[in-house]
Amino acid sequence: MSKQKLPKEFPLQEGDKLTPSAKDFLLDRKIPIVADKAVVSNSVQLTIPVGVSNRHAHLSEYHFHLLFGDRASLTVLRSLSQPGQFAAYETVTIVGQKGVLQNVRILGPLRNHTQIEISKTDGFTLGVHPPIRPSGLIEGTPGITIVGPVGSVTIDTGLIIAKNHVHLSKADAKIFDVINGDSLIVKSNKRPVIFHDVTVRVQEEYQLEFHIDMDEANASGVNTGDTVRVIGKNRSLFSTILGDEQDG
Ligand SMILES: [Zn+2]
Repeated sequence: MSKQKLPKEFPLQEGDKLTPSAKDFLLDRKIPIVADKAVVSNSVQLTIPVGVSNRHAHLSEYHFHLLFGDRASLTVLRSLSQPGQFAAYETVTIVGQKGVLQNVRILGPLRNHTQIEISKTDGFTLGVHPPIRPSGLIEGTPGITIVGPVGSVTIDTGLIIAKNHVHLSKADAKIFDVINGDSLIVKSNKRPVIFHDVTVRVQEEYQLEFHIDMDEANASGVNTGDTVRVIGKNRSLFSTILGDEQDG
């Protein structure tokens, strides 16, 4: 019969739980229980609620009136989590070379520039593949045709796949120890996916939320209201141990 050698120390990893008898066993034999340093420093878990954005349109005032008529105005359907932002009752149709997307929601208020945000999958439907861009950076992006109840307009540029990002208030930014333009590493739970370069956007009035598109939501199995866990920032992980956590 072979005798198993006892370890010199018992390393405790994230998620490990010792039963009282196991602890007594180790202590009786003077085997120290050591916790991984990184686990200790990461003991405060930071989580962020998720907001999934379906395809949508931001319209300029000029384009809105071309599509809906001179006297039309946007009607609030429901307000969004970011203060002042709302989903409008009005929708448009987006027309590409290969196909169309109907009932594309307009998000208000109206903006200086028209911007249409779609997913990569929507791009296959339309037959056009825009780049991934932060909102507002539309230079060099493809155009698209937008159809409303009164008229239609073809924009030269403004079709994007939105870059994922986190909205943080200044107070949240302090808690998360980040500044505007930093990048977070976050992990989903249900179907674990790591988003390793999530842009940090800080503004006083922002509501804490991780914004992803429908493709990213489907790939990671998350819905609006679920949470993701922050596991690192600026391309560096807090810990090399990826523990499993409760469903968020
Ligand atoms: Zn956003």
